Amino acid sequence: MTRSLTILGATGSVGSQTLDLVARNPGRWQVEALTAGSDVAGLVSAAKACGARFVAIADAAKGEALKAALAGTGIESGAGESALVDAAARDAEIVITAIVGAAGLPPTMAAVKRGAQIGIANKETLVCAGPVVTAAATAHGATLLPVDSEHNAIFQVFPHDDPAQVERVILTASGGPFRTKSREEMRGVSVADACKHPTWSMGAKISIDSATLMNKGLELIEAAQLFPVDVERLDVIVHPQSVIHSMVEYVDGSVLAQLGSPDMRIPIAYAMGWPERIATPAARLDLAAIANLSFEKPDLERFPCLALAWAAMRAGGSAPCILNAANEIAVAAFIAGQAGFLDIDAIVAETLNMVASGPVATLEEVMAIDAAARRTARALVAKRAA
Ligand code: NDP
Repeated sequence: MTRSLTILGATGSVGSQTLDLVARNPGRWQVEALTAGSDVAGLVSAAKACGARFVAIADAAKGEALKAALAGTGIESGAGESALVDAAARDAEIVITAIVGAAGLPPTMAAVKRGAQIGIANKETLVCAGPVVTAAATAHGATLLPVDSEHNAIFQVFPHDDPAQVERVILTASGGPFRTKSREEMRGVSVADACKHPTWSMGAKISIDSATLMNKGLELIEAAQLFPVDVERLDVIVHPQSVIHSMVEYVDGSVLAQLGSPDMRIPIAYAMGWPERIATPAARLDLAAIANLSFEKPDLERFPCLALAWAAMRAGGSAPCILNAANEIAVAAFIAGQAGFLDIDAIVAETLNMVASGPVATLEEVMAIDAAARRTARALVAKRAA
């Protein structure tokens, strides 16, 4: 049976791996819509290859170029943020949300509001607006299936019918490229150094978040939104081989884990095929060749972003949204050469101190606090550069 599918963020790392699975399974999915940020050529070539019906580009200035490149193909197009919402609102059974950052929030909400099956990779959406998104999913009958490998692993071994059986949820972390480096050694690292992830190949922003361990912090907050467990039952362990993708410890002391090679097509295929499993070309685990699995405690002093995220999760309300917005600005500044690697945690900490947090109940409140935190973080970046 052919199922309809929309991919938000189709030109990125998760988006292109989703399209790879579509191409390997002819007839299984009909692509309804694809979106991108500003990559016209990538979007057009992906749309032609998979036979998408509609494409949207976030950068409004690229709308005419997109239309011209699609001339004669019969593929409809739109540009600007509202066009992304239009793409998500189209009638596709499954939506993979692979936009990077809080920019994914409005289109994700559009898909949630029409009760779609959503494979959620765009963790920033759940971090900044988790309670709003999950309440809307319940109200509109949408299904949220985690694509992030850790949450996908937890989803596969979680007792959904009886969460009281859970003692602890343990997220694994590779430790990133600077796992063994001192703060002093991290001071002068380049963007290329920070993007050299030891086990996963990913987009720039998440690679840098992995290097600061903010990624694990965002994932803790994401887990608190996706699974009905008290935040004090969420834990992190560093596991450099990235073979165990996360674990659930039960009240009887049993620990259930999901293992696999570090290939995002495994969790993406799980979310696309659910409740069925789909064959993927991911390398099979050769445990004898891997030989050893090791574990260590995360170092919150060398990696303060994880401590900041942990505190924001415990504080709740708008604190995770402020943390996320400040991090997006600080990471963008690092990529642009306007801030150093160690400025990232400093900017996030200062923004959290400067922007008052409190309860948030609506999408509008989330957007307002996100904007305020971004303004503050931008001013802090400018102050450093002056
Ligand atoms: P990439 O940077 O590779 O791709 C991001 C996608 O979002 C691209 O299609 C990009 O378009 C689009 N985009 C960027 N900015 C905007 C914007 N302002 N508005 C609309 N679209 C935009 O990211 P990844 O694929 O690595 O990550 C995507 C999400 O998935 C992130 O939230 C990440 O944390 C999460 N994730 C990623 C994993 C991975 O292995 N990569 C693993 C687990 C989670 P364009 O190409 O035009 O810039």
